[in-house]
Parts: sequence; C-alpha cells; structure tokens
Amino acid sequence: MPSPAPSSEQARTDFVVVERCRGCGSGPLVDFLDLGELPLPDALLATADLDGPEARFPMDVTFCRECSLVQIRQDVSPEALFVENNLYFSSFSAGLLKHCREHALNLIQTRGLGAGSLVVEIASNDGYMLKNFVEHGIPALGIEPGPPQAAAAIAEGVPTRQEFFDADCARRLVAEGKRADVIIANNVMAHTPTLNSFAEGLSILLAEDGVATIENTYVKDLIDHCEFDTIYHEHFCYFSCTAVDALMRRHGLFLNAVEHFPTLQGGTLRWIIGAREDVQESARGFLAAEREQGLTSFEYYERFGERVTGIRKGLRELLAGLRAEGKSIVGYGAAAKASTLLNFTGVDGEFIDYVVDRNVHKHGKHMPGIHQPIHPVEKLLEDQPDYVLLLAWNYRDEVMRQQAEYLERGGRFIIPVPEPQIL
Ligand SMILES: [Zn+2]
Repeated sequence: MPSPAPSSEQARTDFVVVERCRGCGSGPLVDFLDLGELPLPDALLATADLDGPEARFPMDVTFCRECSLVQIRQDVSPEALFVENNLYFSSFSAGLLKHCREHALNLIQTRGLGAGSLVVEIASNDGYMLKNFVEHGIPALGIEPGPPQAAAAIAEGVPTRQEFFDADCARRLVAEGKRADVIIANNVMAHTPTLNSFAEGLSILLAEDGVATIENTYVKDLIDHCEFDTIYHEHFCYFSCTAVDALMRRHGLFLNAVEHFPTLQGGTLRWIIGAREDVQESARGFLAAEREQGLTSFEYYERFGERVTGIRKGLRELLAGLRAEGKSIVGYGAAAKASTLLNFTGVDGEFIDYVVDRNVHKHGKHMPGIHQPIHPVEKLLEDQPDYVLLLAWNYRDEVMRQQAEYLERGGRFIIPVPEPQIL
C-alpha cells in the first residue's frame, strides 16, 4: 500500500492528460467514453486507512483515427500503479495456468527450444509461465517489476530480474550477450504507458529468427460484449490487430499470425510477432475483418458509451429491486475490474454487503472507493447470501463449478455484463 496515502489534491497533479496518440503520436484524439473519477483499482484499503484521503483520477477513453489505437487519456505514474499496489498473483487462477502451460509446451515443440535457447517473459509475475520452460531445462529469464511477485518466482527457481521492460532494459540484456529466441508478454502490453519503448525493446532483444508472442484482451470483444469494467488506469491501451500491426511495423517487426481465445479474460488475442516478415492467413484475415467491421473508424466506438450508461442504470435497478425484497447480495472477485464496475455504477454498501476473493493477500482489506470489506470465498457457504454479483465474470465457469454447493442450496449468481442478468 502507498504510505502515507496521497491526499486527493496531491494526487490530482500525479497524472498527465494525453493529447497525442501513445502509438503513432498523431492528434487530436477523439473521446468516446467517460467513466468519471475512479480510485486506483488495486489500491485496496486497510481498515485503518478507511477514513483517510483516497486518490481518484478521471477516466476518459479515446480513439486515434490515424492508427486505430484505443487508449485512455489519463496517465498515472506506473510506479504508483504497479509496484506498490498490485497484489495480483498469476498462480491463483487454475484456468490461466492451464492456458499458459499449453502455450509453453507448444512453443517448446514448434520452436525446437532446448538447452541453448533463451526464453524471456515480460511481466513474468510469480514464474507461473516460465517454470514450464525451467522444468524442461530451457534457459528462461523473467522481467517483473513487482517485488513480491519477483521474489516468489526466484523462490520457485525461475531466474527473474525485478524491473520494468523497455528499450533500455533490452539494451542492457543484449550488452550482456543475451538474445531471446522467444519473448512472451501476456497481459502486459496494455499496462505499458511507453508503448514505443516496449516495441523497440522487443526488436532489440529478439534473435534474428526469434518470435514474440503477445497476449492481450481484444478491443473488439471488449466493445461487443460491453466489458467496460476492464478499462482502468492500469490499462493504458486496448488493442486491435490493426493497431498492433502499425505499432510493430514502426519498429521493424511484423504481425505474422493471430490466434483468438474468445472466452479467455473476456476475449483474448495472441499476436505472433517476428523480426522477419512472414504474414500468415490468420493475420491477413483479422486485419481485413477489422476494416470490414469498422474497427478502424470512430463510429464503431461511439455507441459504446450509451450502452455502458444503460448497464449502470440496469444493474442499479436490478439490485435495488432485490434489496427492496430484503435479499442479501455480496460480490465475488476483488480484482481491478470489480473496482471499475462498482465505483462507476455506484454499487456500494447500499447494494452489497461485502466482496469475497480467493487471494489470501486481499482478505481483511477493503475495496477502493466503495470500501466494502473483502473476505475469503468460504464465507459464501457460511452466510449463504441470496445473490452473488459475479464481478469476476471472466472466470464464470470456474467460479460456478467451485460454488456448486452454494448453488445447490439455492444461491443465485448475477452477471453484470454484457447486460445485468440473474443466472
Ligand atoms: Zn495513433
């Protein structure tokens, strides 16, 4: 936790309003969504801090007509966002671990990786991904800015450096004689405010025939499924293939192939980036489809704001109706998206009693902004609330399986997006 907590006034000077595209540098950008003033999504509060000042930052989402990059206007310093506040450990999600293991095993086979190779992962977290390579005797190196995550990885035997990845970091590695045959960057590109330095770093560090595999949520899935709660200050950019292709080409890299995982994190793409141009049908197909479907034009994004406002109204009405009937409601999942959703919709203690989460590091703390307490998931069976608002809707199937007993006893889940609904 940041200590001491910045006062609201101090915090207001601690962000920059972006006027030109983070990717191509063009302007002006055109806004299409205003999410109001939000607290930092991972800044969970200790009980003692509940009465203290809490920073909030405006949140506008905007579009670059030149390179199609969707991005937020407000740039909060990365140190404040990630190092101090982030309690996210990748190894807490079984589904994600399986997805990563399959990817690692596939890379080992298709790239012919062995003892003479080097796999680098950017934002390697607790080593959840790289340990698959370490187990196979393949040299691996994690780059992870979060101290507890880096320490956890090293304890697991995964070589890790605690730092941010950018062009300078890549240059230092190359100066030490390191070149990566594979660079993996999962769910991190959206987190980097210095997008061009990130891409430049890839081009510096990649071996001549190396590949970078980058995964991030797909802006088309975000818009189509109205996943507005995945927009928060940690996510500076929201990517289409068109935007990724333009970014990489500016740094001498090529978007050669694309894979789509429609249910992963609400819809994820894996972009295969090469130092050599070898564009496959999958990449050509996605780029053509995006032009046809309008992702390259502002109009596609324009209606999104109205739909998001509709969800706020619908969710509040649904929950208020249940509360009027005397029903008890709690939230499931204290992740960053929960903070966006609860604070934007104003679903606070009037609507939900508390939030449960599997991450033991979050227990006993409170949600940013709305201040509801976070408890272990076991509390669902102790209390048997009438309804659970599934804030972690991206783990819907996993959570429903884990909560079979809660459901059998008559408990019901509520899904907030793409429209509020009782399951
Ligand atoms: Zn641009």
